[in-house]
Amino acid sequence: MQLVFASNNKNKIREIQQLLPASIEILSLEAIGCHEEIPETANTIEGNAILKANYVTEKYGYDCFADDTGLEVEALNGEPGVYSARYAGEQRDAEDNMNLLLENLAEQTNRNAQFKTVIALNLNGKQQLFTGIAKGKITTEKSGNQGFGYDPIFQPEGFQETFADLALETKNQISHRGKATQLLISHLNEIK
Ligand code: IMP
Repeated sequence: MQLVFASNNKNKIREIQQLLPASIEILSLEAIGCHEEIPETANTIEGNAILKANYVTEKYGYDCFADDTGLEVEALNGEPGVYSARYAGEQRDAEDNMNLLLENLAEQTNRNAQFKTVIALNLNGKQQLFTGIAKGKITTEKSGNQGFGYDPIFQPEGFQETFADLALETKNQISHRGKATQLLISHLNEIK
């Protein structure tokens, strides 16, 4: 089965390919000749996943899935949420984003947070959503050099390490994206 994964992020493509069975052939946006930036203008994580999947299906005619992720911090009423990538500005810099978040949490004892991934799948004329959540805490200092984004300051529940300290395989087993992808895979296996 061929499916487009509506992403240009090499980290995400590498992570998701590790989680998919060989029977599912993933086509990148590049492979279908989609070089333009896909709009992410919705104000929810779900809305952005749907926008991206629909863009590819409507413009390029492919079955497709798209994901969108946000980090929701309890003490900040769910921020940065859908704005996680550009929390500290349009430069979308991971270091700037982490520094701002640590600053905004400086006086907070409640460090609870969760990553949420929503995958929107367009397949055979139908759309379905799959949601994965990873609960944890925001640390006070950065640690580790694996992964990307907020990984150095996110300590998943049940671990002493941050996501950036963990091997990619370990992160995949417990991560928001890993969980949402497992739901997607189960669904794809069921309908085959
Ligand atoms: P996206 O929707 O997957 O592009 O994620 C939006 C933003 O959330 C990214 O730019 C990162 O800042 C952050 N993010 C998403 N997934 C992860 C993750 O697995 N670890 C750390 N940060 C992430």
